[in-house]
Amino acid sequence: MIKAKNIYKSFGELEVLSGVSFNVNQGEAISIIGPSGSGKSTLLRSLIGLEEINSGELYIEGISIKESGKKAYEKMGMVFQGFNLFPHKTVLENLIEAPVVVKGEKKAEAQAKAEELLKKVGLSDKVDSYPAQLSGGQKQRVAIARALAMEPDIMLFDEPTSSLDPELVGEVLTVIRDLAEENITMLIVTHEMGFARDVSDRVFFMDHGKIISDTVPEKIFVNPESERIKSFLTKIL
Ligand code: ATP
Ligand code: MG
Repeated sequence: MIKAKNIYKSFGELEVLSGVSFNVNQGEAISIIGPSGSGKSTLLRSLIGLEEINSGELYIEGISIKESGKKAYEKMGMVFQGFNLFPHKTVLENLIEAPVVVKGEKKAEAQAKAEELLKKVGLSDKVDSYPAQLSGGQKQRVAIARALAMEPDIMLFDEPTSSLDPELVGEVLTVIRDLAEENITMLIVTHEMGFARDVSDRVFFMDHGKIISDTVPEKIFVNPESERIKSFLTKIL
């Protein structure tokens, strides 16, 4: 589904990704954990084409990014820490914008799909609200529904709950958990270790621009491979 081979990315003198390689299979949910500045966001942004990598190879569904160009990115949706909703559009308008403008879907069709998605994230009653009228957790659920409206094969989440008040984290994690059960392929950067343990098929641990551990949650959380990982986990848990 996703294959990364020896990816390098620098910002000026600073090397942020230092030879990242991994495979993600169809339907897998992968959590990406690791210290601040280790390159987690840069990795996701590179996957979806928001950052240009300096070297290495990236295949999405077997097709090289180099060959397919922007087309490969259309298979992915991304949800950020901040909600990035269009503030002057209603919830419904936020959801139908990209399907109509980018994909050329008919408005009625996009609208019907948007209503389904809002039901799925538990926000049917908010179709006509504006982002400013929603709580953080509701905004983030709209952001997830908006990404899903493009019918991606792969969803990328970059700390989707870290700007939320603690009591709102659960409702967003529940939505992501439901997606994992539907077998959507997902990469989730998170500090929610309980969630990573329960939901992910594998956990990548990033440190200094490298994936230094790629293993099942039962292993990393119970018997981590290195002192580095152990000390990170004891600090965060
Ligand atoms: P956090 O857990 O704090 O979100 P992260 O693992 O997501 O950290 P990145 O955001 O990928 O880390 O950043 C990795 C390094 O790259 C950091 O040192 C950061 O300052 C630097 N960096 C990220 N984006 C840019 C940019 N656009 N220009 C210059 N440096 C950048
Ligand atoms: Mg980050």
